Parts: sequence; C-alpha cells; structure tokens
Amino acid sequence: MTAFGYSRWAALATALANTAPGQRHPDLLGTPGDLAALLRAHDEPEPVDADEADLRDALAARDAFNAVFDAAPDETALADRLNAMLASNARPRLVAHAGVPLHLHVDAPDSNWGGWLAASGSMGLALLVAEHGAEALGRCGAQDCRDALLRTGSGPTRRFCCATCASRVRVAAHRARQGRRGSPAAE
Ligand SMILES: [Zn+2]
Repeated sequence: MTAFGYSRWAALATALANTAPGQRHPDLLGTPGDLAALLRAHDEPEPVDADEADLRDALAARDAFNAVFDAAPDETALADRLNAMLASNARPRLVAHAGVPLHLHVDAPDSNWGGWLAASGSMGLALLVAEHGAEALGRCGAQDCRDALLRTGSGPTRRFCCATCASRVRVAAHRARQGRRGSPAAE
C-alpha cells in the first residue's frame, strides 16, 4: 500500500506536473475524467468525482508546480514559488471523520480537487525540500523529456525520470561515440 501523508502528496504533485504536454506525449489532463483517473492512480480514496471547475483549478495548480520544478535547484526562487502556493492554498488543520483517527488536512475546507492538489502538493514538496534540500526537486536529464522528478533516496543522485529515459540517453551516447570512431559496423 502506498504510504499516505506528505510523500504521497509530493508524488501526486509531480505526476500532475508531468501531465503537461511535452515532446514525448500530448496533454494528459484534458477532461475531468483524466483528473479522476490521476487521483485514483495515486490511491485517493473514493468518492473521486471531478467536474470542469476541478479540472480548471487542477490545470492552474499544474502550471504552478511546473514553475516550482523549473526553479529548482535555485533555493530562493524555489522557496518563493512554493511559499506563494502555500500562502494562497494551504490551511492545515486536524480532522476526525467517523471511524478515522485525527489526521491532517492541508486544504481549505471548501476547496475542490484543484485546491486540494495545490495545497497538499505544495505542502508535500515543501516538506521534502526541508528534509532533503532543493536538489530533491529536479527534471529528467533526457533533453527530449524534461519531466519533473523527485530525488529522495540515499543513493547516487537520480538523473532520469524512468529507466526508459536512462537507457535511451545511454544508447544515444553510445551511438555518438561509435559514429565519431567511424565504425558503425562495430555495433
Ligand atoms: Zn524522462
């Protein structure tokens, strides 16, 4: 089961940022149904229903998250952009639902899914940066991808968003070296 709490919020903010159209895929957030599917894919409990207002506000949050990832690892710019998102969206409070122990909600009580994504995602990213530094937020090193990524592990600094991008760049570098030697037959 995926961990609940701020690491899930940060992962969801990153996935939301990466629905923006890029060189390798079209816009992946075109309908309220796409938004509901994204939330369900990140273990958001039912009921997950999204409408046009949710979608509009989620797209605004997506732009803001991409600006945050673009700012990293510049600490001042990163903090300014995350602080602006927190100031306009976050209202942390303890909540008890029937049968559920006290837990933290970060969004304002009347927010829609877009407001919830902006609030929880900016809090999740801010807590990751506070724990791991500004380098926790980055972009894929593949120039034809540049998707947002999180670096929270202890190992070597993560350069690529996924194994596909890592191997594509490795193969291209290998071909470039072969080409310089003028011996493509050696592959
Ligand atoms: Zn990538």
